[in-house]
Amino acid sequence: MGRLSEIAGGVLVGTSEPYVTTTTVVAGSGGRCLVIDPAITPADLAVAAAELAARGLRPAAGWSTHPHWDHVLWSRELGEAPRFATPRAVAAATAQRADLIASAQQAAPGHDLELLGRLTALEPGVGRVPWDGPQAWVVAHDGHAPGHGAVFLPEEGVLVVGDMCSDIEIPLLDLDAPDPVGDYRAGLERLAALAGVRQVVPGHGRVGDAAEFGRRIAADHRYLDALQRGAPFEDPRLTQDWLRAEHERQLRRARAGPQ
Ligand SMILES: [Zn+2]
Repeated sequence: MGRLSEIAGGVLVGTSEPYVTTTTVVAGSGGRCLVIDPAITPADLAVAAAELAARGLRPAAGWSTHPHWDHVLWSRELGEAPRFATPRAVAAATAQRADLIASAQQAAPGHDLELLGRLTALEPGVGRVPWDGPQAWVVAHDGHAPGHGAVFLPEEGVLVVGDMCSDIEIPLLDLDAPDPVGDYRAGLERLAALAGVRQVVPGHGRVGDAAEFGRRIAADHRYLDALQRGAPFEDPRLTQDWLRAEHERQLRRARAGPQ
């Protein structure tokens, strides 16, 4: 991971090379911080922990945007802070723990597996990350994964959007859900309804400004429109074999319709 860079007051973003994966840190008072989706290799987590220590920050809470292996990682060096996620995300991470571990072992071996996916569910009805730093609103939906929870920092105008609104990945649907396209659109609509987004931080890809956020929302809807028409099509983000494979699966599923 490269150095954490400050994209807004007290909001730090680091990017790891594999899958252009971001880690976001929100600084609070007294050296306390919120760590969102620390990733992706054990070496990256070590770099992030060392940099936080060098900046005098210590994690008071963690947030996992969704129950995929690369968003539920942690390390001893990050400390024993509670790591929160939405109730549906926690249920999915618990149910799929063996798969999450296998995926992590394959893609980024060497993580502390005891810590992987050890998440605490938000209390029902709670829409904020429970910590004493800057407000962190949770925008929950089921696009991409069950209980996907983006985090919006209203004071800083930063939306940590998880695996949506990427400049380098097409919308990746939760194909285990009955209506993957409907869930994804509902998620995009919730995100687009937020007022005051000045920067968007995707889980994979580059930070964008407000205009870029609008373009990505539109690009994702266009992708879903084309998917639902059912004919083969191109998207400028289809640049890698694994994305093309996912795209083909999604096209087949879209032709079958909601189930
Ligand atoms: Zn994901």
